[in-house]
Amino acid sequence: MPGESVLIVGGGQAAAQLVVSLRLGGHGGPITLVSDESAPPYQRPPLSKQYLAGELERERLLLRRAEYYESRDVELRLGRRVLSVDRGHKLAVLDNGEELRYDRLVLATGSVLRKLDAPGSDLPGIHYLRSLDDADALHEELAPGRRIVIVGGGYIGLEVAATAAKAGAEVTVLEAEERVMSRVASAAVADWLTGLHRQSGVRIRVGEQVRGFAGRRRVEAVETGNGPFAADAVVVGIGVLPSADLARECGLGEDDGILADEHCRTEDEAVLAAGDCARAVNTALGFAVRLESVQNAVDHGQVAASVILGDPKPYSGVPWFWSDQFHAKLQIAGLARPADETILRGDPTSGSFAAFRLRDDRLTAVEAVSSPRDFMAGKKLIASGSAPDPVQLIDESVALKDLIQA
Ligand code: ADP
Repeated sequence: MPGESVLIVGGGQAAAQLVVSLRLGGHGGPITLVSDESAPPYQRPPLSKQYLAGELERERLLLRRAEYYESRDVELRLGRRVLSVDRGHKLAVLDNGEELRYDRLVLATGSVLRKLDAPGSDLPGIHYLRSLDDADALHEELAPGRRIVIVGGGYIGLEVAATAAKAGAEVTVLEAEERVMSRVASAAVADWLTGLHRQSGVRIRVGEQVRGFAGRRRVEAVETGNGPFAADAVVVGIGVLPSADLARECGLGEDDGILADEHCRTEDEAVLAAGDCARAVNTALGFAVRLESVQNAVDHGQVAASVILGDPKPYSGVPWFWSDQFHAKLQIAGLARPADETILRGDPTSGSFAAFRLRDDRLTAVEAVSSPRDFMAGKKLIASGSAPDPVQLIDESVALKDLIQA
C-alpha cells in the first residue's frame, strides 16, 4: 500500500537506508524518523578512526544532509525518544507526551554501550565511544605524551589505540581475555594485530581484570590485579548490547535482539526490526543472527523497505566486517566459531595474508589482512557454500575464484 505511514524509531545506518530505499522505491506515504541524537543519521565507523583523529569534518559523516529529508518529505524528529508503543492502537508515545500513529513501525533502535561497573567508574576522564558527541569529547584527550589507557581489545579498543598512538599518545590496552579480538577473529590474526600495535608503540596487556579506577578529581589510574596503570584518560570499549527495551515492553519476542524472520518482520505484522537491535534470520547462513556491522544495517534497511513496498526480499547477504588499524586493513567475511580450524594463505610477515576458517570441511569465514583479493574471493566462496580443498586454499599459485563450486 503506497500510502502507509511509516514510523522509524532510531536514527542510525539502518534507519537512513530504510528512508532512502522507501523513497527510491516509490513509497508515497508519510515517513517519520524519531531519533534521540541531535544529528541526522551519520556514519559511525570513522568515529574511532579519521573523525577521532580530526581528519574529517562533522558534516562529512552525515549519510544524507538535512535537506535530503526535507526535500523527500521525511519528518525528522531529532532529540526525541519513543517511550512506549501501543501495538493494539498502532500508537507510539514520545518523551514530550506526543502520540504518533503508524501503519508500519520499524524498530531500528541500535545498541547501547556495555558499561563497566567498577569503583570509580563515574570519574571524569573515563570515556566510551558510540556517538558523535562521544568522539568529540575523546578527541580532546588525544595529544602527544598523554597516557591513554583503553579497556577492551576489540574493534573499538584497537581502532582507538591506533588513532591515539598516531596522535602521539602513550597507549595501553587492557584486555580481559587471553588475546585481543577473541570474539571476532582467529588467534593468528589477533596475534598479528597485537604485533602490529606493539611495533607501533602500543602496550597490550591480556588477561587483565579491571578492579576499579582511582583518581581525585578525575581518573588517574586503572586498577587491575597486576598493579595500577597510570592514565590521563581512559577509554572503555567492552562491547554493546542490543537496544530492545521498547520491543520487550510492548510484548515482542526478544532474545539478545528483537526476534525477526528473514524479512525483518517481528511476530506483529505491522512491526519490523532492523540493524544492530534485530536478530533476524539470514538465509545465507540458515539461522537468525544479531550483528553489529554497517552491512547488516544496510541490508536490513533494504529488506524492511522491500516488505513495506510490497515486494519482500529476504535477508541473504554473507556477513562482512572491516577494521582499519595503522596501515593494516582487516576485512572479515562469514561467521566463524572459536573452535573452527584456521589455515593461512600468504605469509603474515609480509603484512598481507588471509586466515581461512573451516568447520566440517566447509569454509565459515575468511579474515583478510591487507589482502582485498582474498577477502572478495573468500566471500564468494562462502556464499557459494563451497567446501574447498584446504591444500588448494593455501596454495597461492591457485586462484581462489577457481575453487568456487557452482
Ligand atoms: P567493541 O565493539 O566495543 O570493540 P568487541 O566485542 O569487539 O566490542 O570487543 C570488546 C572487547 O572487550 C573484547 O575483546 C572483550 O574480551 C573485552 N572485554 C570485555 N569486558 C572486559 C573487561 N571488563 N575488561 C577488559 N576487557 C574486556
